[in-house]
Amino acid sequence: MTHTLTGQIVLPDRLLPGTIRFDSHIREIEGITTKEPLYILPGFIDGHIHGGDGADTMDGVAAIRQLAQYHMRHGTTTILPTTITRPWEDVILALKAVAEVMKTPDPIGPRIHGAHLEGPFVSPHKLGAQPPFAIPPSPDKIAEVLALDCVRVVTLAPELDHAESAIESLAKAGVRISIGHTIADYETTLGAISAICTCGGIAGGTHLFNAMSPVEGRKPGPVTALMCHDASYAEMIFDTHHVHPASFRLASRLMRNRLLFVTDAMRGAGQPDGPSTLGGQDVLISEGVVRLPNGSLAGSVLTLDQALRNAVTHGASLPEASHLVSSNAATYLGLTDRGALEVGRLSDFVILDRDLMIREVWVNGQKTHQCV
Ligand SMILES: [Zn+2]
Repeated sequence: MTHTLTGQIVLPDRLLPGTIRFDSHIREIEGITTKEPLYILPGFIDGHIHGGDGADTMDGVAAIRQLAQYHMRHGTTTILPTTITRPWEDVILALKAVAEVMKTPDPIGPRIHGAHLEGPFVSPHKLGAQPPFAIPPSPDKIAEVLALDCVRVVTLAPELDHAESAIESLAKAGVRISIGHTIADYETTLGAISAICTCGGIAGGTHLFNAMSPVEGRKPGPVTALMCHDASYAEMIFDTHHVHPASFRLASRLMRNRLLFVTDAMRGAGQPDGPSTLGGQDVLISEGVVRLPNGSLAGSVLTLDQALRNAVTHGASLPEASHLVSSNAATYLGLTDRGALEVGRLSDFVILDRDLMIREVWVNGQKTHQCV
């Protein structure tokens, strides 16, 4: 069945008043004179999402479906449920649950591209809010991960033992290697990015600026390496708590289409302020900020529609903000069938009103959510 949407179409480089005709894929885009104020954007893509609506990826199949539904209502049409550093058996169980949801997706739900394995291959000295179960990426563990065939992104601290062989195996398998939770210096990070590229892989950075050494004049650190290497992408949690708006502007000017927004949302997203848990640890949510008892930030309660509004508030145009929540992630993840409004791409849409609030969400040419 063919549908039509009319409004201000957010193309990669401009707004086009017009109509989109589509079934499961976009069949035609036509510029017309219309006063319809609604904005039509490509569906959002979140590559780092632990939870929402009370559910967490580590809780298994039903929870993954629940958090996916929650984030879909905020415009996210492609999701990578993300694990946290826990004992290895728990991590494997969670990955198997993601694989199960990939095999049996909800008929009315977002696309589950695969899992993001965040931990345990992280530095015990830069855990952030990750529980203390970090281990090195030994060849047997990497083989176990690859055998599940559901992991699309692995967060890796490149200074760990076995990191070199892990990079080679993961890159050759097409898994994105996201440098993060690391005490690596500038040179080590640059070396890791080059090694990833040499093996035919694609390098990313896990929540740029967070859980990595800061930028200093004489110690440029991993942040500078990720921002300045032309081949590397990086995630950013732009809830304005994890990253200052000026740091967002710095990164987006340097990185342009290599910067991608993620939420790093935890189970408290969409829940009232109060106590919650992350990776088995008690956390407190207060006024949109999640903290461990020691004061460390512990994931976010962000959604990508709010991240898009934050970007626009802090100077991005709507096409630029659309890149940050959709097309940049699509390019990073190799999802050439989505991430932009172009004839032939999948019909995943987000409809926003004048205030950039969600009105409708479409997945695969089907309206999956409508705000009433
Ligand atoms: Zn995370």
